[in-house]
Amino acid sequence: MERKTITDTLQRPLRDLRISVTDRCNFRCTYCMPKEIFGRDYEFLGRDQLLSFEEIERLSRIFVAHGVEKIRLTGGEPLLRRDIEKLVSMLANIEGLQDIAMTTNGSLLIPKAKALKEAGLKRITVSLDSLDDATFMSLNDVDFPASKVLEAIDASADAGLTPVKVDMVVKRGVNDQDIVSMAGHFRNTGHILRFIEFMDVGSTNGWRMDEMVSAAEIVERINAVWPIEPVDPNYYGEVAERYRYIDGAGEIGIIASVTVPFCSACTRSRLTADGQLFTCLFGVRGHDMRSLLRSGASDEEIGAFLSRVWGQRTDRYSEIRSEGTIPLEKVEMSRIGG
Ligand code: SAM
Ligand code: SF4
Ligand code: SF4
Repeated sequence: MERKTITDTLQRPLRDLRISVTDRCNFRCTYCMPKEIFGRDYEFLGRDQLLSFEEIERLSRIFVAHGVEKIRLTGGEPLLRRDIEKLVSMLANIEGLQDIAMTTNGSLLIPKAKALKEAGLKRITVSLDSLDDATFMSLNDVDFPASKVLEAIDASADAGLTPVKVDMVVKRGVNDQDIVSMAGHFRNTGHILRFIEFMDVGSTNGWRMDEMVSAAEIVERINAVWPIEPVDPNYYGEVAERYRYIDGAGEIGIIASVTVPFCSACTRSRLTADGQLFTCLFGVRGHDMRSLLRSGASDEEIGAFLSRVWGQRTDRYSEIRSEGTIPLEKVEMSRIGG
């Protein structure tokens, strides 16, 4: 298929694809899959509803032919999908794809890190919200200790998945007291710690603006202990604002999706585990690519569908959040991936 660039109504090109490979997770992070909702009775997708690796690879090829350069595997917890390294190696063979990354909670990563690297994974992001077990366990809600995630971060670095990114969602009154200790822990390690403003994704995490700690406040708190200065973005549309320690101890990032929206340069598309295409993290409805795949559509037909959906894209949720016209039934984070 000939490679082309497609742009949306705001002239934003399609460049990134985030694929949720499963809607299941072994954690119940209170800000993502609260136990009261994602309990015993919750109906997760069945096996035949999930896209197979072959289907994911075929769609990925079509996305790459329409401008996608980077793919990130996410979930739910992507390492719950059996033999995920096979999918990584299938994707690594796609001509024109420059980058394959994964976001994981790290709980199942230690025995997989090397195989993932060998399969062609280029980068890994491990989520960790606190170094303090009581705090971390209250957030993951399954008593998973922080030390095991730290070991997984080291295992990733040993496997050559460097620099490892470590993502911390900051919630006021829950783990904001750990901003400085997390920064201190990851200084001089080569890992890049990134702070994420608590977001109003989905409809079940009870989001409140006063529980969000702003990027400006995070910068202020770190700067008071170890002075930092901004660094230019690596590329157009980079989500994290970058800072470096003036004493040379490394770099941090801040993802300020609530207070400093970056919709105007948003080049990301998202595919759920059951093949629904979303053009915004805060989407309400997906576009069904699985039916198209399974009804025998050709690559050209699927490509035309993708071009049409992207061409009609108008999303700028984070920018309009403050206008009060936001939808109520947004897709859940565990379905769409981070
Ligand atoms: N299970 C994997 C993990 O936790 O890394 C991948 C999926 S998870 C949905 C992707 C990222 O989204 C994680 O870093 C998680 O902390 C973040 N996340 C989930 N809910 C969030 C929220 N309400 N606000 C900000 N970030 C959130
Ligand atoms: Fe699972 Fe990741 Fe959501 Fe936590 S943030 S519940 S680890 S999908
Ligand atoms: Fe992109 Fe939607 Fe996030 Fe804006 S709100 S940056 S359009 S995903």
